[in-house]
Amino acid sequence: MATLVSEPFQAMSLKHVFSASGIKGKRVTALSPQENALTDFIRTIIAEKPDIDSPFSVLDLGVVMALFEKWATKLPTVQPFYAVKCNPNLSLIAALAALGTSFDCASKAEIQAILSLGVSPDRIIYANPCKPESHIRYAATVGVNVTTYDSKHEVEKIRKCHPTCELILRIRPPQESGARTSLGLKYGALPEEVPELLSVAHAAGLKVTGVSFHIGSGGGDAQAYEGAISAAKSVFDTASRLGLPRMRVLDIGGGFTSGPVFDAAAMKINAAIQGSFGNEEELVVIGEPGRYFAETAFTLATKVIGKRVRGELREYWIDDGIYGTLINIVFDYATVTCMPLACTSKPENPSCMDSKTYSSTVFGPTCDSLDTVLSDYQLPELQVNDWLVFPNMGAYTTSSSTNFNGFSSSVKSTFLAYTNPITREQTML
Ligand code: PLP
Repeated sequence: MATLVSEPFQAMSLKHVFSASGIKGKRVTALSPQENALTDFIRTIIAEKPDIDSPFSVLDLGVVMALFEKWATKLPTVQPFYAVKCNPNLSLIAALAALGTSFDCASKAEIQAILSLGVSPDRIIYANPCKPESHIRYAATVGVNVTTYDSKHEVEKIRKCHPTCELILRIRPPQESGARTSLGLKYGALPEEVPELLSVAHAAGLKVTGVSFHIGSGGGDAQAYEGAISAAKSVFDTASRLGLPRMRVLDIGGGFTSGPVFDAAAMKINAAIQGSFGNEEELVVIGEPGRYFAETAFTLATKVIGKRVRGELREYWIDDGIYGTLINIVFDYATVTCMPLACTSKPENPSCMDSKTYSSTVFGPTCDSLDTVLSDYQLPELQVNDWLVFPNMGAYTTSSSTNFNGFSSSVKSTFLAYTNPITREQTML
């Protein structure tokens, strides 16, 4: 029988984490708390590798570790299953595996990526309610034994391809308020569908061991979690009423952001779990955070490859765009910000302090005029070959980027950094 690992943490070697980096062990000057975009680090990379292929990104493992610590403190009873779809960067998932997270995979390829790091299959939930049969068979062969469902047809496929798999019923949360990306239109059983979906699975000889939901990505609204936890409890009660085996897994999905909203959401979630499930002694609670761990950990460095001046307007082309890493502007409704690298070293940097800014447009490199990254954005005068730095570029970026126009999708390399959360000192890994 599958066991979703609830005890932290089967730590693994960090060798995967450290293998990707080109420049190691170098210390970079301490940062002020306001400087979170690794710009001194990026400057050092460029100085040491002047011919570096652009664009590139930097993953700050200090950020990942601090977020893990925060999760463990604020949501101590919720085991995180990182949602690989958000950013499958191998160094990121290896670091998370070493810290002790488990994983939410949506496909065979994601399961393969996690298993290739030596992670045990019982630390994976196959959290896609609609799966191709060939992927279900693969999950069966490698021992991934827990999956989500929300339709009778999925029950039938799982009965056929993986009859020992445990099922988690995905429900549609009562509200998704504030989410940037809604998932409820596509997934989640409606309240009136629940009894039949539980009975059908039971009749097929499959065990439904829990309930999952996703409140929508990018909102982190505390109220939405509260409502969904209470709805999940109703499903537990329905299963009991139908005389089915006792459920034990509550999967509160993703939707978390790493800012202050997280603290408020965590408080409400803890209270809601206690309020609805306080009497369930065997309860295992898991979450599927994606954006929470990935978004702020990555910084993107791009190069200005073209320029046009039209009166007071400045237009720039950079070597990444909405068909590449910056695809989060389209699919994730992200509002991105950027800064010229030359202006970021220290506030007293003479090259930027008093420079005039211009209303600027920043285009991506493809021929499509939709490939516009920023419009009417204030920037100082830039020149071709200057660098522009985009912070918070880890969520739904490289995982969705394309090869459109032959600009082989997005970043050419990812460097690893560690920012000490207390001293702000940065080390290249
Ligand atoms: N779990 C499931 C089933 C999802 O579909 C997603 C995102 O689409 C996530 C988790 C991750 O969501 P987020 O990045 O908002 O935490």
